[in-house]
Amino acid sequence: MTLGEKISRYMDAGFPAIYLNTFEEDKADDLIHSIAGSRKVIEYSIFKGLRGVKNTTLNFGDSTKNLSAALEILLTDRSNLRRTILIVRDAHFWFENPEVISKLRYLFQEITSGLECNVVIISPILKIPKELENHMTILTLDYMNQSEIRELIENFCAEQQLDSMPEDLLNELALTFKGLSEFEILNILGLALAQEGTISRANLDIIFEQKQQVIKKSGILEMIPLKESLDDIGGLENLKKWLKRKSKIFRNIYKAEAYGVDVPKGVLIAGMPGCGKSLNAKATAKLFNVPLLRLDMGRLMGKYVGESESNMRKAIALADAISPCVLWIDEMEKAFAGINSDGGSGEVVTRLFGTFLTWLQEKDSLTFVVATANDISKTPAELLRKGRFDEIFFVDFPKPEERKKIFEIHIRKRRKDDLAKIDVQKLVGLTEGYSGADIEGVVRDSVEDAFVNDKKSVTTEDIVKAIKNTRSLSEVMKDSLKGIKEYYKSSKFKSASE
Ligand code: ATP
Repeated sequence: MTLGEKISRYMDAGFPAIYLNTFEEDKADDLIHSIAGSRKVIEYSIFKGLRGVKNTTLNFGDSTKNLSAALEILLTDRSNLRRTILIVRDAHFWFENPEVISKLRYLFQEITSGLECNVVIISPILKIPKELENHMTILTLDYMNQSEIRELIENFCAEQQLDSMPEDLLNELALTFKGLSEFEILNILGLALAQEGTISRANLDIIFEQKQQVIKKSGILEMIPLKESLDDIGGLENLKKWLKRKSKIFRNIYKAEAYGVDVPKGVLIAGMPGCGKSLNAKATAKLFNVPLLRLDMGRLMGKYVGESESNMRKAIALADAISPCVLWIDEMEKAFAGINSDGGSGEVVTRLFGTFLTWLQEKDSLTFVVATANDISKTPAELLRKGRFDEIFFVDFPKPEERKKIFEIHIRKRRKDDLAKIDVQKLVGLTEGYSGADIEGVVRDSVEDAFVNDKKSVTTEDIVKAIKNTRSLSEVMKDSLKGIKEYYKSSKFKSASE
């Protein structure tokens, strides 16, 4: 169903108000006009005041730039509203004003009781006063698909009288632009053209950079540059093997689906802090050769009613629009903490969780979720049920052979030539209970120490000294980790290590 059809349906069903949350206000405006049919369209904005009502400019002049005054006019002579759609822009500026809220509530009640009118609020900012919440339905503009974006680029090139673009570049550009609005795409194309004088492969970097900016501005998702690969991870061989297997499916998805293979949904990686969970999320995107989006759960929780849910829906829609991609949900347990607890926040979290679960269950886009968490013992059981994630892995503190690999990775990264002379086995023996992050810290400190003391190379003894000066995470967090460890021991999650 198109958005236009959806809106028409809500209107026909007598829903008094639709909140169209979008940056593309003009496009939304056009859409409403196109579905108005025989209904008259009245519009309000701060800039233009009330438009489409007979004689308002004549009789009331500038005063209709005040939303409260504009509503007063409409409510005084109700015939103005018969068989109309009232588009309200800039409404969010007025939502602290009791008169506006009261008049809108009154208008919504009139509509519910039979007044033939619909209100459409178009705003780039989602802000709904609690008093109006029950009357509003929130909708967002759909993202463009790849072929629509192609068409937009082709039109842009034609308008700018540029040579037509090679097919593969056009496709690549369209893929890179996924998840951006028409306005944003045209802006970026304009910028690239201004900087380079043409649209070519050389522009892809600018485009990618701009896209990162746009996504960052959305405030919920962040695009993370791909640096780490599976080779940067010591140990966790079971998890790595599993990810490689899924990457073969993901990279050949059309063939795999035709063969009858299910589209991979995602993985939950839970366990001890500093042991490579985030590292795996990042390496997965590199392995799958797709963008990595990080969902910031803290920022997702909004202040206004409906905001967090709408943010979640936005994040999901954006990830789906950008797909194929990896969506990394960091510190998942924090996001869903407070579920079923009393009071407003518990309710919001429960609803958020419902939205997320439904999406995870039903999604058919190529958005692969990597959720990472330290403690999932309080995570609702529904989320851990088979079928939500493809697999749940438990990451423990590294075993001796894993610590060996982690030491080698971090020494090689900083002091490649010293590695052969260092007795890594001795270091392994001294670091029982150390996390990967602890080991990295030890290597980092010893390299810094050797440099400051003008040493030619880093020796085993330098690192031993750093180990003696370090308290491992498992020691520092002994008490808080005890319960988590027991929980993981009793649960049947797969071990990430071999
Ligand atoms: P937290 O739960 O605290 O977020 P985490 O499990 O996500 O921790 P990472 O952020 O992946 O831990 O690890 C922190 C750093 O420690 C990494 O950037 C990496 O340098 C190092 N590290 C951790 N585990 C490993 C590992 N298995 N191999 C190599 N380096 C590791």
